Amino acid sequence: MTQKLTVLIIEDEHTICDFMAKTLNAHDYKTITAHTGREGLAYLTSSLPDLVLLDLGLPDMDGIEIIKETRQWSSIPIIVISARNQEKEKVGALDIGADDYITKPFGTYELMARIRTAIRHSNKILDDHVNNNRPYSAGGLVVDFEKRRVTVNDKEVHLTRVEYKIVSLLAKNSGKVITYDTIINEVWGPYADDNNRILRVNMANIRRKIEETPGEPKYIFTELGVGYRMLEDENLS
Ligand code: CA
Repeated sequence: MTQKLTVLIIEDEHTICDFMAKTLNAHDYKTITAHTGREGLAYLTSSLPDLVLLDLGLPDMDGIEIIKETRQWSSIPIIVISARNQEKEKVGALDIGADDYITKPFGTYELMARIRTAIRHSNKILDDHVNNNRPYSAGGLVVDFEKRRVTVNDKEVHLTRVEYKIVSLLAKNSGKVITYDTIINEVWGPYADDNNRILRVNMANIRRKIEETPGEPKYIFTELGVGYRMLEDENLS
């Protein structure tokens, strides 16, 4: 089982919203739809989507405000859906952190191409120090970022979305200590509880799934009071 990418669609025009959701579902993406800005912001923090399709003209707030708020804590790719003749709005949206825009009306091919590009680009930024999206591999553990697939000694490991996010974050920064706060911020956003309990629970589950002896981990080490460190990628050391 590979992890499907989740796209959050924030768009008040139901016809367009449904069209995008159907198109994405047909291309094997999961979708969450919101018809107001407030709803959209709530989903952003609660559902941890991989990409956002955002209409700028929403009934309760300006899409620009959503980009501003989101960019304070997240680099999630945002593609703005705009009407024709909204050049100023598009530029404004890009200036404050949107990744791309698509103009209504648009077709399936264009929509899918924009989404693929935005996701590829965001992976690249995350992977700054690692070339492309080459899988992480060390001591029999392989994390394939493109397929979102984790295997131990060629056996597939079934992780939840949150568990996968934690593992891939650590794998992309393998060999480095990643603090609890950084992980919590990256995975759950800034509105998550301050305490590390939820992270510890997830880590216990991850270890149960990937470590031969969870009490003596060989892939993900605890740096007491600081965070976690993943065994360094064999291709890096
Ligand atoms: Ca609208």
